[in-house]
Amino acid sequence: MARRSRTERLDRVRGKRRRLYVVASAVSAVALGAIVLALVLAGVDAGAEPAAAELEADTIGMLAADEATISIDASETVQGLIEVPNVTGSPIEEAELLLGAAGFEVVRVSTPPGDVASGTVLAQAPPAGERVLTGSAIELVWADPTATATGTTLIGQRSYGRSPVVCIDPGHQERANTSPEPIGPGASETKAKVTGGGTGVVTKQAEYKLVLAISLKLKERLEARGVTVVMTRTTDAVDISNSQRAKVASNAGADLFVRVHADSSTNADIRGISTLYPSGNDWVAPIETRSLAAAKAIHSAVLVSTGAGDRGLAKRADLSGFNWSTVPAVLVETGYLSNPVDDRALADPSYQNTIADGIAAGIFAYLGM
Ligand SMILES: [Zn+2]
Repeated sequence: MARRSRTERLDRVRGKRRRLYVVASAVSAVALGAIVLALVLAGVDAGAEPAAAELEADTIGMLAADEATISIDASETVQGLIEVPNVTGSPIEEAELLLGAAGFEVVRVSTPPGDVASGTVLAQAPPAGERVLTGSAIELVWADPTATATGTTLIGQRSYGRSPVVCIDPGHQERANTSPEPIGPGASETKAKVTGGGTGVVTKQAEYKLVLAISLKLKERLEARGVTVVMTRTTDAVDISNSQRAKVASNAGADLFVRVHADSSTNADIRGISTLYPSGNDWVAPIETRSLAAAKAIHSAVLVSTGAGDRGLAKRADLSGFNWSTVPAVLVETGYLSNPVDDRALADPSYQNTIADGIAAGIFAYLGM
């Protein structure tokens, strides 16, 4: 188990983050994005009762029969979580002192002052009230007197100093590769490299084809807003294991790794959308907080966009495609191929559009665009 220590990994992540967060001159889009994110997250919190629903394991989960259900509790308290205080409206130095004393790392995001008081915090992400891990980075958008407007709104450039990068992974492939691979770096436990995915109970559509169609629609929407998209695959006849897919996202330095799947269950009545995020082991500890924030934003937006039933958020420690990722990751189960209603809806390109719209909106909110 040659795992890096938690401190080492956190330092590495923070170092990377510092390099990413250079001064942006993105004007009001930045603040607006942070506010939208805050609203989306607040909406999720208000709407998501501790679901405690039980999900059938997705076919990608490849769980043993006795592990085939997982409980969901989006509001469950995770050890080490602390509430983010409200510093919006405070002078930046005060905000930094307060957050530093509370154990947070502060990342400044500059924007020209415009009409607001110079030196004031205009927005923060995560928003006040959000519970995050101790030591998490809090981004503060502040009115920086030295920042200059470029005249054009650099939507999507935010604090990155570059276009945000999103890696999209359309799940599965035409032919399964059941040879084993470690479920995480240094793991002795293994899983099949990649499975073939589910099949529509009515339409007989293949999951790998469906999720590629949705993923390509998502790619269009992200690129239209200036996001750099990296695809793990754009055709069906590939052989890319789940760990390799995570490495594609990690090597690309993606700001988010979005895995697109459709679910299956032995209970044909179950339908709706769930969003999975990595949690519960040392491999994913550095990406858990960010992944959860992305999962909340995406899940909320895709439910609104599709009107689909809410199957909740689910934390997963058992997915190779999460455990090998060094960047925040989510997996959207876009519906149940085992349910006739979901299956027919998923086969409809216009419904696929609403899924892509929702996932895209959630990604924009998460990225603060
Ligand atoms: Zn799947």
